[in-house]
Amino acid sequence: MPYNFFKRIAIPSNISTYLSQTLIIITVATTLLTAGVLIVQQTLFFNKISQQKSKEYIEDQKIYIQEIVKNEQDYIQLQNIVFKQRINSKIKSNVYQAINLAESIYQRYDGKKSDEEIKAMIIATISSLKFNMAFEEVFISTLDGVGVYYPRKPEFTGKDLNNFQDANGSPVIQEEINLLKKDSEGFLDYNMNSDKALENSPNKKITFVKKFSQYNWYFGSKQYVDDFFPEFRNEIAEKISSVRFRHGGYIFMNHMNGTPIVMDGKVYKGDLNLLKNTDNVRNPVFLQQLDIAMNKPEGGFFYYKWNKINETILVDKCSYAQPFKEYGWIIGAGFYMDEIETTIKNQQASLRNDQQKSILIIVLILICLLILEAVIIYHFNKRYKADFERFFNFFFVSQNSFNKLNIREFYFDEFKKAGEAANKMIVLREEIQDKLIEEQERAMESDRLKSAFLANMSHEIRTPMNAILGFSELLEDETQDEADKAVFVSLIRKNGDILLSLINDIIDISKIEANLLSVRKRPVLLNKFLNEINVHYTETLASKRDKNIHFRINPMENQTVSILTDESRLRQILDNLIGNAIKFTREGSVSLEVNIEGDRVNFSVTDTGIGIPVDQQASIFERFIQANQGHKINFGGTGLGLAISKNLIELLGGNIGVESEPGKGSRFYFSIQAN
Ligand code: ADP
Repeated sequence: MPYNFFKRIAIPSNISTYLSQTLIIITVATTLLTAGVLIVQQTLFFNKISQQKSKEYIEDQKIYIQEIVKNEQDYIQLQNIVFKQRINSKIKSNVYQAINLAESIYQRYDGKKSDEEIKAMIIATISSLKFNMAFEEVFISTLDGVGVYYPRKPEFTGKDLNNFQDANGSPVIQEEINLLKKDSEGFLDYNMNSDKALENSPNKKITFVKKFSQYNWYFGSKQYVDDFFPEFRNEIAEKISSVRFRHGGYIFMNHMNGTPIVMDGKVYKGDLNLLKNTDNVRNPVFLQQLDIAMNKPEGGFFYYKWNKINETILVDKCSYAQPFKEYGWIIGAGFYMDEIETTIKNQQASLRNDQQKSILIIVLILICLLILEAVIIYHFNKRYKADFERFFNFFFVSQNSFNKLNIREFYFDEFKKAGEAANKMIVLREEIQDKLIEEQERAMESDRLKSAFLANMSHEIRTPMNAILGFSELLEDETQDEADKAVFVSLIRKNGDILLSLINDIIDISKIEANLLSVRKRPVLLNKFLNEINVHYTETLASKRDKNIHFRINPMENQTVSILTDESRLRQILDNLIGNAIKFTREGSVSLEVNIEGDRVNFSVTDTGIGIPVDQQASIFERFIQANQGHKINFGGTGLGLAISKNLIELLGGNIGVESEPGKGSRFYFSIQAN
């Protein structure tokens, strides 16, 4: 894909535009896709349903015409029974009439006349009877099969008829005799060779026989069905031709030999033979019917083209035909496909109407959905824009402020979390800034302290140096007497000590800063050590005429206690604390208390001096710090002593603390590890 293509559909650089555009595209695409799928589904469904409906309708029609044909078959069946019963009752009544006459003659003349005479009277009486048709005449035969009276065949009289057969080769007389051996009367069907066999009729003969036991005779009468058949067939044809169903449907009826009986809803009167006539329309249709009649006695459907009544155009037709075997008839009915198509079209139109309605509903629902989606997108947009906006403002303002985000104002959890993180960042920044300011102030203070320290130091160094130089000069003066010179030397020495201690302090503090300060622990006899301190300070204070201070040390038990510590460093610490106590006390006492507690030794130096304000009690342990700047004027000092002591105490395994009340005095206390 060329690069330019992407350039043209460039993704917007604005997140919210991008997001809303994407959402709109996705929503519209999804909606259209859903609509498309639903409409296609509807159309497929419609096609399926309409096909199904067409099929169902055709099936319906087929069942319908099948029913109609079956009904007509039932009707013909019933009429046939009635028709046969009519013939049967006719010949039966003829035989009964003859037998009744014969019996009455017999009863009248039995015993009065001879059998031969009576028989002759009976025959004479019967031959005089008038019947509607010749075949209805009554015949008489013996039950052994010898002809007695056959009005149409006089040659049968006195003849053995046992071998007489009908057209199918059935022994007619024997069958009659056999029937009468079981019953006293009965009917028999058989075919006779008749001229009528060529016609479209069954060519069937029905016989009724009844015993006349008085003379071992039986009486009979026979009738050709054909004689009544045309009337019967016409009745049926008339009835069937009058049947109409649904859209002008009618019933057709043909004889299997090709003769139409009812055609196009009318009784056929012409001389057309569908079998012999070989046109393109009627003959093939008849052949189909014939095929069904021969092979499917239960009936069957067939399809062809036929004209409607009073029309000449050929139309597709589906028919059902079923044979009425007994008379070789084929009865059928059909429906024209185009009529069905019209109905199907109507059905489809109503279906399409329904489909259009449901598509309209789908479209309406989708439009509502689109509107709903648009509203949701709008609100979503508005909210996250507002959230973004809060962040922009926050970052914009936070350059020079510590304003925090109001988390509760955010709509979305992600923004809330980001907001919390941003607030934490602000808190951190604030802390860092505070620390920086503090550090800066510290650095400035340290700088200031260092300058003060240096100024102070130069003063502290210059004082003993001046003394040393001054007294050295005086020593050079020959005029000074020896006693004075001795005082000068001791003063030079004292100031030298001060200078040395000052330099030692500076070295120590430098070591502390370089983390090089160390202690060397050795066994120390505590009693001896404290005794030396006691002697030293008692003497020192005695020599100070400007001070009225007693030095006290708590009496230790009179036994030798050895501890493991750095003696010179412990002395340095106590010198610092006791030195300070003396320095800041004009009168009263300075006392040192020592006690042993397990493996620790506790020290405390208490004075009745000027005390330290509470707010300065912590800072005095830092280097260069002096509780009150005014002090240095009055008391001198470098502000290093406590800082060095604190470090040394920590190296000896302890801690230092102070409690003090300005004007009343101070108590410095510490403990060290004793082994
Ligand atoms: P310096 O004594 O040389 O100034 P230090 O570190 O020993 O330095 O003491 C720091 C400060 O603590 C002193 O300047 C003083 O203000 C205060 N201080 C120390 N000990 C005492 C005390 N016993 N009474 C009153 N103030 C004291």
